[in-house]
Amino acid sequence: MRNPRPKIHKSKASSRPAETPGPIGALPGYQAPDAAGHFGPYGGRFVPETLMSALEDLTREYLVARDDRFFQRQFRDYLQKYAGRPTPLYFAARLTEKLKGAQIFLKREDLLHTGAHKINNVIGQILLARRMGKKRVIAETGAGQHGVATASVAAMFGFECTVYMGATDVQRQELNVYRMRMLGAKVVPVTAGQQTLKEAINEAMRDWVTNVRTTHYVLGTVYGAHPYPMMVRDFHLCIGREAREQVLLQAKQLPDLLIACVGGGSNAIGLFYPFLQDAGVKMVGVEAGGEGIKPGKHAARFQGGSLGVLQGAKTYLLQDADGQIMPTHSVSAGLDYAAVGPEHSLLRDLKRVDYTYATDKEALAGFQTLAKIEGIIPALESAHALAHAIKTAPRMKKDQVMIVNLSGRGDKDVYHAAKVLGLKPV
Ligand SMILES: *Cc1c(COP(=O)(O)O)cnc(C)c1O
Repeated sequence: MRNPRPKIHKSKASSRPAETPGPIGALPGYQAPDAAGHFGPYGGRFVPETLMSALEDLTREYLVARDDRFFQRQFRDYLQKYAGRPTPLYFAARLTEKLKGAQIFLKREDLLHTGAHKINNVIGQILLARRMGKKRVIAETGAGQHGVATASVAAMFGFECTVYMGATDVQRQELNVYRMRMLGAKVVPVTAGQQTLKEAINEAMRDWVTNVRTTHYVLGTVYGAHPYPMMVRDFHLCIGREAREQVLLQAKQLPDLLIACVGGGSNAIGLFYPFLQDAGVKMVGVEAGGEGIKPGKHAARFQGGSLGVLQGAKTYLLQDADGQIMPTHSVSAGLDYAAVGPEHSLLRDLKRVDYTYATDKEALAGFQTLAKIEGIIPALESAHALAHAIKTAPRMKKDQVMIVNLSGRGDKDVYHAAKVLGLKPV
């Protein structure tokens, strides 16, 4: 893939207002993960013995495909003609004017087919599954966005598709359950534990162990055992590569700040990664602060979390003193998970990316602001990134530029938001 390196060097650090944190510094020679899937002390492969050979096969196949021009051309072609890439970089003029600070650009992943960035990864993985001779895919889903993307691409490729979903989420996200079924997927409600995403992943892994010869597991974020965090990241690099090219063309400079919400962290790493070498580009990942940083009330792993192992990876997660996984809460189902992708843990240690959080209330305010000012209803997940942009932009100068990743559209959230906000039909 093309990765243009235009000759633009920006060193305006001295002209920054004092309250805007300066550049954290580039990561020259950043190479992660290592061959065994370690991102520094994080990542790795913590899975049952029965899955090791499947993960090794997948890694080998992926590394060959990654360097195969034909595979990459196919991937680019489906991204373009099926998913709708490149997505625009939109200058939010009225939001910028209202906040009286940095120029705000939105990377419009919300305009992709099925409504979020997730389809980038799904197309990549199902192309790979086809190359490996598999005919069936399985996936886990929380809010249903990853399930809908997987069901769509599976239908397009003529694959059999089963999606595991916590029984609580099946009830909360009825619309997406119907969408998946109309697309020909089988939706299996999972009734163990909290009956949400974590349990759905356990069930998908159980299915994979049993059917590994015919089945590929399409994991939905930069999480799990190696090679998933690396592979899913790579499939989302189109976000940051496009944004880099677009901002240089439209703003005539590199951005001063990138902001993205972080569930597992796939939309964030997709945007951030192609800028890691650019010393002047600061990056902030926004986690779900829920009802505030109190046990069980949020999903901000870098606030109340600690080092542990969950579902294949070593990383920051929310656990109690005995290592039991804590319940989590967020108004947005897509950010409501107890662990964060291992590469984010490393980037935080390296101080290359800052991590903060936005509460449910702040996200809902961001959701309404963007709808009313720019005519765009964002996903509640993306609204967390917007909430941080709204806090930060006024403290930046007018010649500074920020890019906010609008990871998805908010159609799926309209009912839920209306209920929380107390809106009546008339
Ligand atoms: C799933 C989802 C997320 C969270 O997943 P990441 O892997 O952190 O990107 C964010 N935004 C939207 C719209 C989603 O559907």
